[in-house]
Amino acid sequence: MVTERQPGRVRLRFSDLMEQQFLQVYAERSYPKIRQILLAAAGLILIFLIVGVVRGTLSWPTAVYMLGITLPVLTATLLQTYKESSYRRSQALLALTTILLGLICISLALRGSLHGATYHFASTVAFVFTVWVVLGLQFRYAAVAAVALSCSYVWGVLTWDFPRNELYFSSLGLLVVNIIGGYSCFQLESAVRQAFHESRLLNELAERDGLTRLYNRRRFDHNIEKLWRQSRRDESQLTLMMVDIDHFKAYNDYYGHQAGDDALLRVAGVISGCAQRPLDFAARYGGEEFAVVLYGPVHDHGRELSEHLRHTVEELRIPHAQSPTSPWLTVSVGVAVVNPGTARSLAGAIQLADEALYQAKEEGRNRIVVRDTSSAHIQTGRFRASQSRARA
Ligand code: GH3
Ligand code: MG
Ligand code: MG
Repeated sequence: MVTERQPGRVRLRFSDLMEQQFLQVYAERSYPKIRQILLAAAGLILIFLIVGVVRGTLSWPTAVYMLGITLPVLTATLLQTYKESSYRRSQALLALTTILLGLICISLALRGSLHGATYHFASTVAFVFTVWVVLGLQFRYAAVAAVALSCSYVWGVLTWDFPRNELYFSSLGLLVVNIIGGYSCFQLESAVRQAFHESRLLNELAERDGLTRLYNRRRFDHNIEKLWRQSRRDESQLTLMMVDIDHFKAYNDYYGHQAGDDALLRVAGVISGCAQRPLDFAARYGGEEFAVVLYGPVHDHGRELSEHLRHTVEELRIPHAQSPTSPWLTVSVGVAVVNPGTARSLAGAIQLADEALYQAKEEGRNRIVVRDTSSAHIQTGRFRASQSRARA
């Protein structure tokens, strides 16, 4: 769940899970640009090497040697952008590739200037600036690459005995470029992170129930439809648990609405604890009714888990003086175990869980009833209406 960031604190890292999601979104958005840049870089290097050889500043074997290093690295980085869940490695690999290419460009530029070319400093400045603001590297990776390249340039100027003046001028120039580039990169990443964080907050507001913070009905409908399609593809099982608080109207009437809200919150806490695996989820289905959806096989057809849920709610020991069922607040649970590959429809599966819940209520409440597709005799559309009449 997203929480507010403290105003005024600038940190280029979220908590672990959100950081992963951010990196994934960030990487997926920057991949098309990175691919274009990598292709352009390969072309430029080729041109540089050809020009170097033609002008006699580079020997054929050196050019082939450099091509032999750069092409595989560029290709590996390019391929990495097509690999799924490669976002963790893509930034590091891109930074490494940048350093390698930068070193080659710097050495070419310096060697060129030894032969009278004048472009060496301008091209290095352009390269360092590109590292900071064009490649879409995160601040920390851009910093490593830009500083490494700047130091290599200064080291090259020193070792190839360029005039002292040139050394001071280029060091100062690179310092300024790094400060401006670093500042821009930092601001850019902060802004992108802020926008990501705000969009997440808005999403949370749109898809979570205001009281319990569980997913709301809208998100439930969206999620279950997605899971239904996925289980159909995977021929996997789907378990749907409908949970309804017993005699909750009487609880509200006796203890008041505020106490009712507090009780709902505590029950919601137990329910959210049931959705533990990555694709499982819990939602507030409506009023005092909740839903838990479990993807994949579940031990003992969900009997154990739903019984655990029912028992844990009872163990909260929330007094309910008006309940004819128990002195404590209790829930009834209807469980439907379906195989979307063979079951008729999602609506039918929800109805099956509803029927099971209705049966649990009829048989005395504070209990679970499990149905699977073999016990289904679904009469689509009729159930909810007759149920509300019966419960009234
Ligand atoms: P049953 O055992 O058959 O489920 O009986 P019930 O009284 O729980 O069922 P009914 O549908 O008659 O009443 C549900 C009650 O839940 C009515 C409503 O006041 C209460 N309720 C629904 N949403 C909220 C909420 O957000 N806060 C509070 N405090 N109460 C709510
Ligand atoms: Mg109820
Ligand atoms: Mg109800």
